[in-house]
Amino acid sequence: MKNHKKLIILTGPSGVGKGTVVKEILNNDRNIWLSISATTREPREGEKSGENYYFLNQEKFKEMIEKNLFLEWAQFAGNYYGTPFYSVNEKIKKGFTVLLEIEVEGAKQIKEKFPESLSIFLLPPNKEELERRIRNRATESEEAIKKRLLRANYEISVSNQFDYALINHNVDETAMRIIKLIKTTNYSQA
Ligand code: 5GP
Repeated sequence: MKNHKKLIILTGPSGVGKGTVVKEILNNDRNIWLSISATTREPREGEKSGENYYFLNQEKFKEMIEKNLFLEWAQFAGNYYGTPFYSVNEKIKKGFTVLLEIEVEGAKQIKEKFPESLSIFLLPPNKEELERRIRNRATESEEAIKKRLLRANYEISVSNQFDYALINHNVDETAMRIIKLIKTTNYSQA
Protein backbone atom coordinates (compact mmCIF):
# COMPACT_ATOMS: atom_id res chain seq x y z
CA MET A 1 0.00 0.00 0.00
CA LYS A 2 1.28 3.47 -0.93
CA ASN A 3 0.59 6.97 0.33
CA HIS A 4 0.45 6.15 4.03
CA LYS A 5 -0.05 9.77 5.00
CA LYS A 6 -3.58 9.34 3.72
CA LEU A 7 -4.22 6.86 6.51
CA ILE A 8 -5.70 8.38 9.68
CA ILE A 9 -6.14 6.35 12.84
CA LEU A 10 -8.63 7.51 15.43
CA THR A 11 -8.45 5.52 18.64
CA GLY A 12 -9.33 5.79 22.33
CA PRO A 13 -11.49 3.99 24.89
CA SER A 14 -15.01 2.79 24.18
CA GLY A 15 -17.47 5.54 25.10
CA VAL A 16 -15.06 8.44 24.60
CA GLY A 17 -17.11 9.63 21.61
CA LYS A 18 -15.09 8.39 18.62
CA GLY A 19 -18.21 7.53 16.63
CA THR A 20 -19.87 10.92 17.16
CA VAL A 21 -16.67 12.78 16.34
CA VAL A 22 -16.26 10.66 13.18
CA LYS A 23 -19.78 11.58 11.99
CA GLU A 24 -18.97 15.26 12.43
CA ILE A 25 -15.66 14.88 10.56
CA LEU A 26 -17.38 13.11 7.63
CA ASN A 27 -20.08 15.79 7.46
CA ASN A 28 -17.42 18.46 7.16
CA ASP A 29 -14.99 16.88 4.73
CA ARG A 30 -16.23 14.85 1.76
CA ASN A 31 -12.73 13.71 0.88
CA ILE A 32 -12.49 11.58 4.00
CA TRP A 33 -13.77 8.02 3.77
CA LEU A 34 -14.51 5.90 6.86
CA SER A 35 -13.38 2.31 6.65
CA ILE A 36 -16.08 -0.25 7.50
CA SER A 37 -14.70 -2.91 9.83
CA ALA A 38 -15.61 -6.55 10.22
CA THR A 39 -16.67 -7.81 13.63
CA THR A 40 -17.99 -10.89 15.36
CA ARG A 41 -20.03 -8.88 17.87
CA GLU A 42 -23.81 -8.98 17.62
CA PRO A 43 -25.39 -6.03 15.79
CA ARG A 44 -26.97 -3.42 18.08
CA GLU A 45 -30.50 -2.31 17.39
CA GLY A 46 -30.59 -0.45 14.07
CA GLU A 47 -27.10 -1.51 12.97
CA LYS A 48 -26.81 -2.92 9.46
CA SER A 49 -24.18 -5.17 7.91
CA GLY A 50 -22.23 -3.27 5.28
CA GLU A 51 -23.15 0.07 6.85
CA ASN A 52 -21.92 0.06 10.44
CA TYR A 53 -19.84 -3.11 10.24
CA TYR A 54 -19.64 -6.34 8.32
CA PHE A 55 -21.11 -8.66 10.94
CA LEU A 56 -19.44 -12.05 10.62
CA ASN A 57 -19.38 -15.26 12.60
CA GLN A 58 -16.10 -16.41 14.15
CA GLU A 59 -15.50 -19.02 11.47
CA LYS A 60 -15.73 -16.49 8.67
CA PHE A 61 -13.62 -13.95 10.59
CA LYS A 62 -10.88 -16.53 11.21
CA GLU A 63 -10.97 -17.50 7.55
CA MET A 64 -10.30 -13.86 6.66
CA ILE A 65 -7.36 -13.78 9.11
CA GLU A 66 -5.91 -16.91 7.50
CA LYS A 67 -6.30 -15.47 4.02
CA ASN A 68 -4.48 -12.32 5.17
CA LEU A 69 -7.38 -10.09 4.24
CA PHE A 70 -7.03 -7.72 7.20
CA LEU A 71 -4.81 -4.68 7.46
CA GLU A 72 -5.03 -5.24 11.22
CA TRP A 73 -7.30 -7.12 13.57
CA ALA A 74 -7.68 -7.42 17.35
CA GLN A 75 -9.85 -8.91 20.06
CA PHE A 76 -11.81 -6.44 22.14
CA ALA A 77 -14.16 -7.18 25.05
CA GLY A 78 -14.69 -10.77 23.87
CA ASN A 79 -15.16 -10.11 20.15
CA TYR A 80 -12.99 -9.86 17.05
CA TYR A 81 -12.67 -6.63 15.06
CA GLY A 82 -10.68 -6.08 11.87
CA THR A 83 -10.02 -3.62 9.04
CA PRO A 84 -10.44 -5.15 5.56
CA PHE A 85 -7.35 -4.39 3.48
CA TYR A 86 -8.90 -4.26 0.02
CA SER A 87 -11.34 -1.36 0.40
CA VAL A 88 -8.85 0.80 2.31
CA ASN A 89 -6.24 0.32 -0.39
CA GLU A 90 -8.74 1.06 -3.18
CA LYS A 91 -9.93 4.29 -1.55
CA ILE A 92 -6.37 5.50 -0.96
CA LYS A 93 -5.54 4.77 -4.60
CA LYS A 94 -8.54 6.90 -5.62
CA GLY A 95 -7.15 9.81 -3.62
CA PHE A 96 -9.36 9.63 -0.53
CA THR A 97 -8.08 10.15 2.97
CA VAL A 98 -9.05 7.00 4.86
CA LEU A 99 -10.15 7.15 8.46
CA LEU A 100 -9.88 4.08 10.70
CA GLU A 101 -11.91 4.22 13.90
CA ILE A 102 -10.35 1.36 15.85
CA GLU A 103 -9.26 0.24 19.31
CA VAL A 104 -5.74 0.62 20.66
CA GLU A 105 -4.08 -2.70 19.71
CA GLY A 106 -5.14 -2.37 16.08
CA ALA A 107 -4.07 1.27 16.10
CA LYS A 108 -0.61 0.28 17.33
CA GLN A 109 -0.33 -2.37 14.59
CA ILE A 110 -1.17 0.17 11.88
CA LYS A 111 1.22 2.77 13.25
CA GLU A 112 4.03 0.19 13.31
CA LYS A 113 3.32 -0.99 9.76
CA PHE A 114 2.76 2.53 8.40
CA PRO A 115 4.80 5.00 10.46
CA GLU A 116 3.76 7.87 8.21
CA SER A 117 0.08 7.43 9.05
CA LEU A 118 -1.45 9.95 11.45
CA SER A 119 -2.59 8.51 14.78
CA ILE A 120 -4.89 10.38 17.15
CA PHE A 121 -5.96 9.21 20.59
CA LEU A 122 -9.16 10.63 22.06
CA LEU A 123 -9.18 11.03 25.82
CA PRO A 124 -12.22 11.60 28.03
CA PRO A 125 -12.12 14.69 30.31
CA ASN A 126 -11.90 12.20 33.23
CA LYS A 127 -12.82 8.58 34.05
CA GLU A 128 -16.16 9.45 35.67
CA GLU A 129 -17.22 11.22 32.48
CA LEU A 130 -16.18 8.19 30.40
CA GLU A 131 -18.36 5.92 32.55
CA ARG A 132 -21.25 8.38 32.29
CA ARG A 133 -20.94 8.44 28.47
CA ILE A 134 -20.85 4.63 28.16
CA ARG A 135 -23.87 4.27 30.44
CA ASN A 136 -25.83 7.05 28.69
CA ARG A 137 -25.30 5.33 25.37
CA ALA A 138 -27.26 2.39 26.84
CA THR A 139 -26.17 -0.04 24.14
CA GLU A 140 -24.31 -2.57 26.28
CA SER A 141 -25.12 -5.02 29.03
CA GLU A 142 -23.71 -4.33 32.50
CA GLU A 143 -21.13 -7.06 31.93
CA ALA A 144 -20.01 -5.50 28.64
CA ILE A 145 -19.83 -2.04 30.24
CA LYS A 146 -17.60 -3.40 33.02
CA LYS A 147 -15.28 -5.08 30.48
CA ARG A 148 -15.00 -1.87 28.48
CA LEU A 149 -14.31 0.31 31.54
CA LEU A 150 -11.63 -2.07 32.76
CA ARG A 151 -10.03 -2.05 29.34
CA ALA A 152 -10.20 1.78 29.25
CA ASN A 153 -7.65 2.03 32.10
CA TYR A 154 -5.08 0.18 30.01
CA GLU A 155 -5.98 2.09 26.85
CA ILE A 156 -5.59 5.48 28.51
CA SER A 157 -2.21 4.38 29.92
CA VAL A 158 -0.82 3.98 26.37
CA SER A 159 -2.29 7.20 24.95
CA ASN A 160 1.21 8.71 24.79
CA GLN A 161 2.20 6.17 22.11
CA PHE A 162 0.21 8.02 19.46
CA ASP A 163 1.01 11.16 17.46
CA TYR A 164 -1.63 13.27 19.21
CA ALA A 165 -3.80 12.84 22.30
CA LEU A 166 -6.82 15.14 22.37
CA ILE A 167 -9.31 15.51 25.19
CA ASN A 168 -12.81 15.21 23.79
CA HIS A 169 -14.64 17.96 25.69
CA ASN A 170 -16.89 18.95 22.82
CA VAL A 171 -17.70 17.05 19.61
CA ASP A 172 -17.62 19.99 17.17
CA GLU A 173 -14.39 21.36 18.54
CA THR A 174 -12.67 17.94 18.54
CA ALA A 175 -13.80 17.23 14.96
CA MET A 176 -12.45 20.60 13.78
CA ARG A 177 -9.11 20.01 15.49
CA ILE A 178 -8.82 16.61 13.80
CA ILE A 179 -9.71 17.99 10.36
CA LYS A 180 -7.00 20.60 10.82
CA LEU A 181 -4.44 17.92 11.80
CA ILE A 182 -5.42 15.84 8.75
CA LYS A 183 -5.05 18.82 6.42
CA THR A 184 -1.65 19.69 7.81
CA THR A 185 -0.47 16.07 7.36
CA ASN A 186 -1.86 15.78 3.83
CA TYR A 187 -0.40 19.08 2.67
CA SER A 188 3.02 18.22 4.04
CA GLN A 189 3.03 15.32 1.61
CA ALA A 190 3.48 17.32 -1.58
P1 5GP B 1 -18.05 -1.31 19.32
O1 5GP B 1 -18.36 -2.71 19.70
O2 5GP B 1 -18.39 -0.33 20.43
O3 5GP B 1 -18.65 -0.91 18.00
O4 5GP B 1 -16.47 -1.22 19.12
C1 5GP B 1 -15.61 -1.63 20.16
C2 5GP B 1 -14.22 -1.13 19.88
O5 5GP B 1 -13.70 -1.75 18.71
C3 5GP B 1 -14.16 0.38 19.64
O6 5GP B 1 -13.06 0.91 20.36
C4 5GP B 1 -13.93 0.48 18.14
O7 5GP B 1 -13.21 1.65 17.79
C5 5GP B 1 -13.10 -0.76 17.90
N1 5GP B 1 -13.08 -1.19 16.50
C6 5GP B 1 -14.03 -1.05 15.55
N2 5GP B 1 -13.61 -1.56 14.38
C7 5GP B 1 -12.34 -2.02 14.57
C8 5GP B 1 -11.37 -2.63 13.72
O8 5GP B 1 -11.55 -2.86 12.54
N3 5GP B 1 -10.19 -2.98 14.30
C9 5GP B 1 -9.92 -2.73 15.61
N4 5GP B 1 -8.71 -3.08 16.06
N5 5GP B 1 -10.81 -2.15 16.43
C10 5GP B 1 -12.01 -1.80 15.93
